[in-house]
Amino acid sequence: MRISAAITQGADSSFEIQEVELDEPRPDEVLVRTVAVGLCHSDLSARGIFPDGAVLGHEGAGVVEAVGSAVTSLQVGDHVVMSFDNCGHCKPCLQGRPYRCLNFAPMNFGGVRPDGSHAIHVGGAPVGGNFFGQSSFATHCLTTERNAVKVDPALPLEVLAPLGCGVITGAGTVLNALRPEAGSSLVVTGVGAVGLSALLGAVVSRVGTLIAVDVVPARLELARKLGATHVIDGRDADVAEQIREITGGGADYVVETSGVPSVVRTAVTSVPEGGSVALVGIADTAGELTLGHYDLIMGRSVFGVTEGNSVPKLFIPRLIQLWQDGLFPVDELIRTYRFAEINQAVSDSLDGTACKAVLTF
Ligand SMILES: [Zn+2]
Ligand SMILES: [Zn+2]
Repeated sequence: MRISAAITQGADSSFEIQEVELDEPRPDEVLVRTVAVGLCHSDLSARGIFPDGAVLGHEGAGVVEAVGSAVTSLQVGDHVVMSFDNCGHCKPCLQGRPYRCLNFAPMNFGGVRPDGSHAIHVGGAPVGGNFFGQSSFATHCLTTERNAVKVDPALPLEVLAPLGCGVITGAGTVLNALRPEAGSSLVVTGVGAVGLSALLGAVVSRVGTLIAVDVVPARLELARKLGATHVIDGRDADVAEQIREITGGGADYVVETSGVPSVVRTAVTSVPEGGSVALVGIADTAGELTLGHYDLIMGRSVFGVTEGNSVPKLFIPRLIQLWQDGLFPVDELIRTYRFAEINQAVSDSLDGTACKAVLTF
C-alpha cells in the first residue's frame, strides 16, 4: 500500500516526508495506522546506520487496521503501543528478559525482517525498515503481534506513545533494575526524557533524596517540579562532592543517562562502597570508558540497562495505571508536533526546547 513516511538519508540528514510502498502484512504481522510517535535519541543516532535511506521511528502508537492470518490476540480496531522487537526463542527471551534478546541488534536495527526481506520500498528500491520492529515515522507501519501492546482505546495515544522506549528505559531502570528502597538516595545524571522518566520512577519508589544533575537550567527546573529534592549544575567542578555532602557520604544509586565518560566517572565517585550505578545513555558507540579499579574492587556496581529491563506487555500497562492514578505524570514531558513538523521537533529536542517530542498524525 502507498503510505507517507519520513525518510532519512544517513548521519545528520534531515527527514523528508514522501510516498513509499509498504508491504501487506504477512501472517505474523499487524498493520497499524499511526496516531502518534515519540522522537527518541536513537532515532537520531541510528541515521548513520542507514546511508542509503530508511524509515525510522520506534515509539509508535496507533490503531490496528489489518492482522495477518496467524495473529490471534489482536484485531482490527485495537489500540496499540509498539515497543522493541525480540525473537521469543533465545535463552534470555525464554527467561523473560526480552531486553537481552540475543537477536536484539538485527531485529531492531537490521533494517529488514528476520528473513532478510524489506517491508518498505521507494520507487521499487528497498529502503531500511522494521526499525525496532515498526518504523513508525510513517502514516502506517508493520509490526509483530509480539511487539504490540494493547491499550484502552479511551486513552490518548500521544501520551502513551513514548512509553514504547524512552519512558520505559528511564522508569524501568529504577523500578525494574535498581529497585531503590523507600527513603534511599538516588541521583539522575542528565534529565532529558529518559532521565526525567527515571526521576518519576524514583518518586513512585518513595526515594527520600532525589538529585538531578544537568547543564540545561530549564531541565533542572522541570526536574524540581517533578520531584527532585536537589538539583546540581553539571558544569560545577565538584558535582561528586556536592552529592556526597547532600547524601551524607554518597548516593545509594545513580542513573547515568548522558553517556559522557567524565560524567560516568563522576557517577561512580558519587556512590559509596556498595552503591550502584546504572548506565543507560550512550554518547559514542565506539567510545571507551576508564574507571578506577579500586573503586570497583571496593564493591561499587556499574552495569548497563537496556529498555529499562522491561517486558513491555507487563511494564507499559503498569506505567499507564500509575499515570492514570496521578502518580506518574509523564504527560508533563511531552510537547506535540504535527508529523510534517518532524525536523522542527528534532531541532527542538537537540537544543532542549522539547523534552519529549511526540509527532501526531
Ligand atoms: Zn530472543
Ligand atoms: Zn529509543
